[in-house]
Amino acid sequence: MQKVKSAYIHIPFCVKICTYCDFNKYFIQHQPVDDYLTCLIEEMSWAKETNLTTMFVGGGTPTALTVDQLERLLSAINKQFNISGEYTFEANPDELTEEKVALLKKYGVNRLSLGVQTFDEELLKVLGRSHQRADIYSAVRNARKYGIPSISLDLMYQLPGQTMQQFDESLTEALSLDVDHISSYGLILEKQTQFYNLYQKGKLNMPNEDLGAEMYHFMIDKLAQHGLQQYEISNFAKEGHASAHNKVYWKNESYYGFGAGASGYVEGVRYSNTNPVNHYIEQVKAGKRPIRTEETLTLNEKIEEEMFLGLRMNEGVNKLRFEEKFGQVLDDYYRDELQNLEAKKLIYNTPTHVALTEEGRVIGNYVFEAFIK
Ligand code: SF4
Repeated sequence: MQKVKSAYIHIPFCVKICTYCDFNKYFIQHQPVDDYLTCLIEEMSWAKETNLTTMFVGGGTPTALTVDQLERLLSAINKQFNISGEYTFEANPDELTEEKVALLKKYGVNRLSLGVQTFDEELLKVLGRSHQRADIYSAVRNARKYGIPSISLDLMYQLPGQTMQQFDESLTEALSLDVDHISSYGLILEKQTQFYNLYQKGKLNMPNEDLGAEMYHFMIDKLAQHGLQQYEISNFAKEGHASAHNKVYWKNESYYGFGAGASGYVEGVRYSNTNPVNHYIEQVKAGKRPIRTEETLTLNEKIEEEMFLGLRMNEGVNKLRFEEKFGQVLDDYYRDELQNLEAKKLIYNTPTHVALTEEGRVIGNYVFEAFIK
């Protein structure tokens, strides 16, 4: 059984709720944040493996915590785990004060993922973000001042009323910061968001899908021209800066998930933790693992996941690893599917890898479905 070498920690609190957001998060005011941290620390202490190669603290927004809460969490993580590689914290630009960056640095955080979304002041307001354009610059300045070696920016496109020119300007500004990693996602209208309600009432001017696709291709070219190569459907990095933690997910490897609503994959079992926060706290205080769902994957399910997660990466699925993991030859297991997709020019099938072509990437979900038996 594969050893767990990665962990995700979920901080489900935000100082402001964005209009498009359907993530697992709560408005921080009146939330039992200290109790939550106590339980999170307790849950982490139940982990069998303590030597990790990657750690990702996300949310919600981890930087919504106060300085004291943040220090409590950071120090507990360091007591529990020895993190030898990439250690990422998600942060909102307006919350990344010098004091907080100094703390993150002191406890070994070596990568920041900044929720920028756009540099356009008007669009930031439309998205309901708590930060302004200037905050992005000061967050990056603070991160560099305290020697955080790696910075990633999260961007969005296909936003309400967004023109190609506005998106281009945001990309230009992001590139001017010379960061080593960018993640960029097209807006998807999710139910139970303010955006969705506005859209239903005909009050949200969404760009059409063609413009969204145009923005996507424009972005791939523009980022590549500036040394940020696409390595996954929505992720771009300078040489050597692809996210090691995210690759754990896409390579279908094991990881712990700690916190309310967090998911994990341990010893062939996919699980998700209970939510909401109060329920999670009750479970942990009662000494119970706060599990909401747990599923032991069959060999067939593991193989399917290996394909559709691995195909998200430009490098694709490694055939040798596939054989080592599952005792099956990929070309035999998916003979008809591979032939069919290759004939449609949706995949490359090389002696070592199966990967999506440019066309395949545009209709990735269709290709992934072909591998479900
Ligand atoms: S900061 Fe992130 S998690 Fe919080 S509401 Fe906005 S998008 Fe959602």
